[in-house]
Amino acid sequence: MRTLEELTRPNIWKLKPYSSARNEYSGHQASVFLDANENPYNSPTNRYPDPLQKELKLSLSKVKEVNPENIFLGNGSDEAIDLQFRCFCEPGIDNVVAIEPTYGMYRVCADINNIEYRPVPLDEHFEFKADHLLAASDKHTKLIFLCSPNNPTGNNLPREEMIKVLENFDGLVIIDEAYKDFSDSPSFLKELSRFPNLIILQTFSKAFGCAAIRLGMAFASLDIINILNEVKYPYNVNQLTQQKALEMLQRYYLVERWVKTLKEEKIILKEKLSQLPIIKEIYPSDANFLLVRVTNAEKIYNYLVDKGIIVRNRSSITLCLNCLRITIGKSIENEKVLSALKAYPAEKN
Ligand SMILES: *Cc1c(COP(=O)(O)O)cnc(C)c1O
Repeated sequence: MRTLEELTRPNIWKLKPYSSARNEYSGHQASVFLDANENPYNSPTNRYPDPLQKELKLSLSKVKEVNPENIFLGNGSDEAIDLQFRCFCEPGIDNVVAIEPTYGMYRVCADINNIEYRPVPLDEHFEFKADHLLAASDKHTKLIFLCSPNNPTGNNLPREEMIKVLENFDGLVIIDEAYKDFSDSPSFLKELSRFPNLIILQTFSKAFGCAAIRLGMAFASLDIINILNEVKYPYNVNQLTQQKALEMLQRYYLVERWVKTLKEEKIILKEKLSQLPIIKEIYPSDANFLLVRVTNAEKIYNYLVDKGIIVRNRSSITLCLNCLRITIGKSIENEKVLSALKAYPAEKN
């Protein structure tokens, strides 16, 4: 691995970060706070939140079994993704490599930050070879993005190949585990101490049922976490979000229950979809959605919209011609999409 100094943008490496009032004094002993120009009225929202979300990270560290200092929290995973570009990639010079198809935000953040994006197509099983990603990289490649289970394909990426990338790429490897809770294969969290170039992304938006609170997690070495923390907005995770996330962690059994139910629902939906003539293929899914190839994605998508049922048309994406991505909903919602598809007139194909 190149040193972290070599991987970090020079201006960021030299940055003297903003020091907020809550950074300079963060003890619990004081009872009179006259340091942040807050309004003394309207408790509890009158006070700035903890800029480093210590209580939340402590609670999270127990559920995830990682040290609090290896956790970064952001305004969704999207903030963590954007920060990787802003911290490590020099606009107009550096580039990043990613599997294709995958989550669209990697490319959007690359474009916004003026960083060359190098997509490497998956094979027909939506798998990849480490050698192909490594061959696409050069001395200006700072990041490689892997997403497992992958969106929109739904499958876990081959673990051996992921490890090969971690072992052989001298930049940072980002493994997006947004759908990890729905998968039976182990998280890369256990590998953090083994790979200093590993950054793992997880989110409260999927299994936790908290897309609205905007909370994303990045797990990495202390040195990487420190860089992300210097560049983020000082109060990037608001107080209401921190509170709600703490509540969710105290009721983690709910998450486990939802995941179990959704996995069962996925099996049922897959089985019933497979009997419909308009369904040409259902791809293996380790996530909370199914990618299905249909006879005509455009027509079927519009037909479902007319019935008030919205799925995602992924037909324009590499390798996903005529594919719809169907999120697993409640049983009654899954039944609605099924009965609508069952009633789809055959001559419309
Ligand atoms: C949904 C999703 C996320 C979540 O992003 P948030 O900003 O945390 O809501 C991250 N990565 C992938 C691959 C996703 O599909």
